[in-house]
Amino acid sequence: MQVQEELIRRRVVHTSPNGKNRTFSSNHCFAQMIICGNCGEVFRRVHWNNRGKKSIVWRCVSRLENTGLFCDARTVPESQIEQVLVIAINQALCDKDAFLVTLQNNIETVIIYENDQTLAAIDKRLEELQTELLKLASSKADYEDVADEIYRLREEKQKAQLDNVSRDELKKRITDMGDFLRKQPTTITEYDEPLVRRLIEKVTVYEDKFTVEFKSGVTVDVNE
Ligand SMILES: [Zn+2]
Repeated sequence: MQVQEELIRRRVVHTSPNGKNRTFSSNHCFAQMIICGNCGEVFRRVHWNNRGKKSIVWRCVSRLENTGLFCDARTVPESQIEQVLVIAINQALCDKDAFLVTLQNNIETVIIYENDQTLAAIDKRLEELQTELLKLASSKADYEDVADEIYRLREEKQKAQLDNVSRDELKKRITDMGDFLRKQPTTITEYDEPLVRRLIEKVTVYEDKFTVEFKSGVTVDVNE
């Protein structure tokens, strides 16, 4: 359970370059998703009123509050981000075969790093140490070193479990993307929020382009 929670925590928090964690302040689909390619901060949704002309834009947080970072990243209309996502998803659909090959490679990389063996080895060692601890304790010998070692191994075990959960989650995301590509026959014409929530991990805004990263790990550049 702890492992699941940690994974969720990791996903909802963006760590800023200055070390401050940012938790969700808005549940808009783009919250925590739009990242500044200039200073590394997140973009925030702003209601813009330019001489009576109202619009919704996204701006780097460093331009809205004091983050300790100077940033002159551009201001992006929300409609432009939606359009960029339609283009990126369509590119994935048009280039289906290439994407499926990349996804397959990603899955193989994930599998290579699986560490079930590490976990089994830690469990075995923990069992041995626990027996030793009992023996030492019952003979009134000093068992502090053994206890320390058990403590250390438990932490290591938790870390290994966490890595496995992350990998399972990533494998699921990659498979999900593959299913989407196989099922969706044609390109999309309109911005589709549920689809974006399902497929897109983040969008990095640069001066001359947007880099769209899918949850599967695949990235697409959109020059705009
Ligand atoms: Zn910035």
